[in-house]
Amino acid sequence: EALRRWRHPSRGVVGPVEFIPVLECSDLIIDVGRFVLTEACRQVKAWHDLGHAVGVSVNVAARQLHYDVLIDHVREALGAAALGPGYLTLEVTESMLMVDPKVTAQRLSALAALGVHIAIDDFGTGYASLSYLREFPADILKIDRSFVAHLATSAGTNFLDALVGLGKTLGLLTIAEGIEEGSQLTHLKHQGCDLGQGFLFSKPLSPEEIGELIRSSRRLVGAR
Ligand code: CA
Ligand code: CA
Repeated sequence: EALRRWRHPSRGVVGPVEFIPVLECSDLIIDVGRFVLTEACRQVKAWHDLGHAVGVSVNVAARQLHYDVLIDHVREALGAAALGPGYLTLEVTESMLMVDPKVTAQRLSALAALGVHIAIDDFGTGYASLSYLREFPADILKIDRSFVAHLATSAGTNFLDALVGLGKTLGLLTIAEGIEEGSQLTHLKHQGCDLGQGFLFSKPLSPEEIGELIRSSRRLVGAR
């Protein structure tokens, strides 16, 4: 998942949680979003050229999804990098889907028609109507980190298991976010959750560090 950092001259490195909400208040998020799409596709293509067939997930803001120009920006980013669309996933939060469900579904369908994957992000926190969920061309469900964090309680376990089950019932690939402990991973694997994300696997890394991580994990696989 591509996450932007802002290298501020006096504040140092500012995380996305701090500055993305400010950008989202204006159309600046459209320009920054376009840059992120372009840069993410370029970087993934660079890894492909080194023999690593990885994909990337890019977060889409509510305001980006509000305009048809997003479809052009995605097409341009893929074209500029000469990247196959199947290597790009767009993450939209569950709450964004409910703003104007009909128009949003059409726009997402146009994006899906390009061949990119659509993931519903932070699932379980946004109160999306389940009947609508079927209308969206999503193929991935990202289960919010709060459900993984509450795994220690029995109520938390029930919720998490239900969300994984729902994803499977709808035929979606399930990804659990915020995995920090081995016990959480074991439980999720047992429930049939497809993929995981979190500090247990890695802290956020720079593109250079990710390149090194891919190389070293490949060496590990090769050594077995
Ligand atoms: Ca996300
Ligand atoms: Ca998320």
